[in-house]
Amino acid sequence: MDIRTIKKTAYIVNSVILAMVFGLMAFFNMCKATFLTYFSIPTALVYVIGYFLIAKNKLSGYVMMVYMWLTFYMGITTLFLGYDYGFHLYCFSMIPVAFVTDYMAYRLGKAERRALVISIGVAVFYLICTGYVAVNGAVYNSDRRLTVVFWMFNSVTVLAFLLFYSWYLIRSIINSEEKLKEIAHKDRLTGLYNRHYMIDYLEAAESVGSVGSLVMADIDDFKKINDAYGHNAGDAVLMEVSRKLSDICAGSVTARWGGEEFLIYLPVDADEGENLLEKVREKIAADRVRFEDKEIRVTVTLGLAERVQGKSIDLWIQDVDKKLYIGKNSGKNRVVR
Ligand code: GH3
Ligand code: MG
Ligand code: MG
Repeated sequence: MDIRTIKKTAYIVNSVILAMVFGLMAFFNMCKATFLTYFSIPTALVYVIGYFLIAKNKLSGYVMMVYMWLTFYMGITTLFLGYDYGFHLYCFSMIPVAFVTDYMAYRLGKAERRALVISIGVAVFYLICTGYVAVNGAVYNSDRRLTVVFWMFNSVTVLAFLLFYSWYLIRSIINSEEKLKEIAHKDRLTGLYNRHYMIDYLEAAESVGSVGSLVMADIDDFKKINDAYGHNAGDAVLMEVSRKLSDICAGSVTARWGGEEFLIYLPVDADEGENLLEKVREKIAADRVRFEDKEIRVTVTLGLAERVQGKSIDLWIQDVDKKLYIGKNSGKNRVVR
């Protein structure tokens, strides 16, 4: 989130709260809750000042002012009216809000970490006010009908907030983890899996023991392509070859093993694997990769080996590498098994 979005959000939140303050003021007045009606005036003033603080980029000051006023508001209403109205419940929602504010400050590159201090302050204030009321009773006697309405309204608001907050937080954590996994497992240029993911995958697949074949594929004379057409053209070739490998070997796991080398795990035996790889080889050799106004010829050499029970992953990779080497030394653009 950038500063403009945060400011926009702050204006919206401030306006919603201000509208709520006026709405409540009218309601208090209607119910003849004189104390609460008058108490709404300084509350509204706080949010009017809020607009100026946001406009002057004093977001941290704005947030602190709102925290302090809300805590004060909860304390005063509890002391004067008792906890039958449920105003003290808002203390519980202030704790997550304080931590979210810290997170926003962190995202803006600021070093402020106040959530713990604010939360402890709110908790202590909560205990003092509710404790005082429990021992001494509230200043005013509560109106039974009014307390029911307020207890319901305040409880539902706080519970709905906590519910939404928890749902949103967990959803954000899952989204971030998925994104991080994607970054950690995939190659940026081609979108294929990377070497680290492939090793983990093969190690996990080792214990399954089903039929499978491994393929090491390498673009032929790729250095010449780079030299003749430029590095960007080379990148376009890498992307196109990657796309064909994953399209034709659908259902397999394809990784960019190194610069212009690919390691593919096919869940089939060597006969079926060889047929598939012949299709890949033919398709790549037959098509041209278009880059700007150029048409580039590309071929690949592929080494293939079926899984042998008890043989290590390292030896399996060495085996397909050797077969690739044989293919390179016998004219390239071929499948060797
Ligand atoms: P061979 O047919 O024997 O495989 O020869 P080759 O030229 O394909 O292999 P060589 O190992 O000599 O050269 C590979 C080249 O790939 C060298 C390197 O600059 C280039 N390369 C590696 N990664 C990238 C990349 O991400 N983009 C581009 N454009 N080139 C890359
Ligand atoms: Mg090569
Ligand atoms: Mg190579």
